[in-house]
Amino acid sequence: MSPRRLPKVLIVGAGLGGLTLAAALEQRGYEIEVFERDAAPESRDQGFVVNLETGLAALDRIGLADAVRRTGFATAGLKILNSSGKVLIEFPSHDAFSIARPTLRRLLLSAVSESSILLGARAQRYAEDDRGVTLYFDDGSSVRGDLVVACDGVRSALRRQRVGDALIYVGVTIVGGEASGDTAAAAASSKAFSEGKFMTLTPRGSCYSTPLGAMQDRIRWSVGIAAIEGEIDRQFPDRGALKEELLRRLGDCHDPVPRYLEAIAPEELNIRQVYDREPLDPGPGGRMTLLGDAAHPMTPYRGLGANLAMLDALDLADALDTAGDVNSAVAVYERKICRRGNSAQVMSRQVARAMHWDEAFMCSLRDLQLRVGGAVAGLFRNIRR
Ligand SMILES: Cc1cc2nc3c(=O)[nH]c(=O)nc-3n(C[C@H](O)[C@H](O)[C@H](O)COP(=O)(O)OP(=O)(O)OC[C@H]3O[C@@H](n4cnc5c(N)ncnc54)[C@H](O)[C@@H]3O)c2cc1C
Repeated sequence: MSPRRLPKVLIVGAGLGGLTLAAALEQRGYEIEVFERDAAPESRDQGFVVNLETGLAALDRIGLADAVRRTGFATAGLKILNSSGKVLIEFPSHDAFSIARPTLRRLLLSAVSESSILLGARAQRYAEDDRGVTLYFDDGSSVRGDLVVACDGVRSALRRQRVGDALIYVGVTIVGGEASGDTAAAAASSKAFSEGKFMTLTPRGSCYSTPLGAMQDRIRWSVGIAAIEGEIDRQFPDRGALKEELLRRLGDCHDPVPRYLEAIAPEELNIRQVYDREPLDPGPGGRMTLLGDAAHPMTPYRGLGANLAMLDALDLADALDTAGDVNSAVAVYERKICRRGNSAQVMSRQVARAMHWDEAFMCSLRDLQLRVGGAVAGLFRNIRR
């Protein structure tokens, strides 16, 4: 009997999910091609730190978990605090590892052969037929394969074609910055610092703090504000005024929150609106599927997006290995990732909103429930940030 011909897989997006899939499939002998819109791996800011827990199991299966453990650092537990620094609830780290997102991406890039990745290739649409699928690019070129996997992130062009749904603004805008040098050193002596990792909740906004390395000498912080879409950018084109606004909202919080805000140069503030989408319905199978943020974009407030993207990648590789054909593999895979991803997505939206309630009474109720383990505490359970 002749050996089974392995399908040729076209992967759109060289992010965390797409590269994990590429590495897993290459190691199993599949022909793959990865298409990335960016002209160079570092041409876009790759963000700050990700905490890996379940994602580590996926990286273990492509031989990268030890490199992550060597390059990253053990994740501290997360304390959720009120504005005066009182601990409302505390989550252990579950043996998680943190790693700078750009470093993780570089590790993943090194696990895929260079010749399999085409940079500067922006996918636009796909067309399926009985014999395969064609992927079209915005420069008019196209390529044939047996399966297209959309790993093109939260603004996925291929999802737009398959589902056509809109991004949903969840009502939270994040203003972020970094503390280093004297500010980070002084912050380390504060009671709330907790190895640089804490989340403070107030009716005027939240402040999340996380170290960028084991030394805790660089801290990434982000203030979440309940706001109408675009409101923060519109109201504060002058970043000096935005800094004043952050201080007005959180300047009376426990140390080191005011310290972070006072030290930041206004031009270093960055603004990001938080979006997700409605959960995806699994399809009947086909020659196109979605993975990671393209399948289940979620708010960062449960710290799960990267972990799930990497788990999806291994699940798709396993489904292709075990199902008889591409169609059935896609059907099995989508049922699995929709079950897992959709509930994470919904919880992640709920927790983002509950963290940004702006009515003092509701916030007191939430804080009380967090302290005594009420229903709201259940919503916050298993936060992995
Ligand atoms: C600042 C920040 C911190 C985060 N922290 C955590 C954390 O602690 N834990 C966690 O689990 N998750 C975290 N996340 C979320 C996590 O990074 C994402 O969920 C994860 O990267 C999703 O992987 P992905 O492969 O689906 O998408 P991405 O990693 O976003 O990759 C998408 C790729 O597709 C490319 N692309 C887009 N459109 C096209 C196109 N048309 N054609 C070709 N290429 C295209 C993009 O350039 C990009 O390279 C964080 C995210 C951010 C931004």
